[in-house]
Amino acid sequence: MQVSCPTCNRPVVWSQESPSRPFCSERCRLIDLGQWLAPDEPEDDNGTRIPKADAANDH
Ligand SMILES: [Zn+2]
Repeated sequence: MQVSCPTCNRPVVWSQESPSRPFCSERCRLIDLGQWLAPDEPEDDNGTRIPKADAANDH
């Protein structure tokens, strides 16, 4: 049996030789997990502010 890696669409053999199935590799598994944990919603307003740059511009 063969499936397609959800991350890169490479064919993956569904067997014990592919411990990261249905992903082709551990890397693709982590990439997919990261997409679930970090959606594309912008959080710049509160998450990644840089107060030093703002202070420098004000003065
Ligand atoms: Zn893959």
